[in-house]
Amino acid sequence: MLIDLYSDTATQPSEGMRRAMASAPVGNGPVGEDTLTNTLVEKVADILGKEAAIFLPTGTMCNAISYRYHCRPGDEVIADKTCHSIHSEAGGASALSGVLFAVVNGRRGLFSGTDVEALVRHPPSPIRPRSRMVVIEQTSMRAGGAVWPVLAIEEVAAIAKRYGLAVHMDGARLFNAVARTGSPAHAHAGPCDSVWIDFSKGLGAPVGAVLAGSKEFIEECWRWNAQFGGAMRKPGILAAACLYALEHNVERLAEDNDNARWLARELSQIDGIEINPAEVDSNILIFDVKGVGVPAAILHDLLLHQGVRVGVFGKWDMRVVTHLNISREQLTTVVMIFDRLISSVRSGEIVCKESSGAGVY
Ligand SMILES: *Cc1c(COP(=O)(O)O)cnc(C)c1O
Repeated sequence: MLIDLYSDTATQPSEGMRRAMASAPVGNGPVGEDTLTNTLVEKVADILGKEAAIFLPTGTMCNAISYRYHCRPGDEVIADKTCHSIHSEAGGASALSGVLFAVVNGRRGLFSGTDVEALVRHPPSPIRPRSRMVVIEQTSMRAGGAVWPVLAIEEVAAIAKRYGLAVHMDGARLFNAVARTGSPAHAHAGPCDSVWIDFSKGLGAPVGAVLAGSKEFIEECWRWNAQFGGAMRKPGILAAACLYALEHNVERLAEDNDNARWLARELSQIDGIEINPAEVDSNILIFDVKGVGVPAAILHDLLLHQGVRVGVFGKWDMRVVTHLNISREQLTTVVMIFDRLISSVRSGEIVCKESSGAGVY
C-alpha cells in the first residue's frame, strides 16, 4: 500500500467519522437552521477565544473573505515570502479583493515587529498603497512547518496595531502549533482580528474550515460568503465530520509532530540529505537532496516506484508531511527505502535521467 507523505490533505476520514456523517441531521445553513454547524462554529469560536465564527468549505475561502473584509482594492498586505496566499491560491487575494502584497523576507516564515515596521507605509500618502493587514501563517507551511511562538505573534500584532493594521492568522495547522508549544489555541489567536482553522488537513475531515473573529466581522463575512458562493445549504453532514475531528483528532497531532521530528533525525543520518531535525517544529519536513546527485523530481519517481509518495518543492527540495494515517512503523519502512534507494543512486547502480514531472507542489 502507498505510504502517502505528499501532504496532510491525504488523511482519510475514519470509520467513526463516516458514521457520524451518515447519521447527521441537516438544516438550511445560511438561515441558521443547521444545528450541527451552529454547534461547530460555537465550539470553534470558544476554542479560539472569539465572539463568533462561520463554517466555510475551504481555508482558501477563509483567506479570501478575510482579505475582502479587511482591505479595499489597492491596499497592501504584509506577509512573508512563503505565504500560502502568495503561492497557492491562484492569485485570489488580488483577483477577488484587489490587494497587493508587501513581502517580508522572514526567517523560516516568521518575522518580527521590526520587519513589519520596515514595510508599513507610514506616514500615509495619497500616492502610496495603504498598508492594511498583516498575515501570520501558523504553522508556516512552505517554510517547513515552522511554529510561531505566542510571544512572537503578540509582538508583531502590537506593532501592527500601532499602525492600524488588521492581523489575520492563517491557522491551517494552528493545532499542530498548539501541540508543539503547549499554549492554548486562544493564546495564539488572541492578538489576531481574524483566524481560521482547517479541518481537511491533519484533522482528517473531508471538507471544511472555520473562520472566527468579532461578531461584526462574522456578520460581514456572511455577506462576502453569499457573494463568493460558499453558503452551504445542508452543511450538517460536513459539520458532523468536523465535530468528530475536534473530539478525536486534535490531541493526537502531537504524534504527527513527534513522528516528523523522528523522521528528520533518521533522514539526517543518510548521506546526501540535508536537514536539521532541531528545525522541525511540527508535521512538515522540507529537505535538500542535492547531495544525492539527482533532482528531487527524479528521486520522487524512484520513491513512488517503491511505494512512497513525497512532494517536490524545488529542484533540490523535497517535502514530506506526517499525518493521521501515517504510523511510526510505516516511517521505519520509509527510512529503509530512502536509505537503500539513495545509496543505489549515489553508487551509480540506479541511473535515472528524466522525471515524470509528477509530485511537484
Ligand atoms: C492548505 C492551506 C490553505 C488552504 O486551505 P484549503 O482548505 O486547502 O483551501 C491555506 N493556508 C495554508 C498554510 C495551508 O496549508
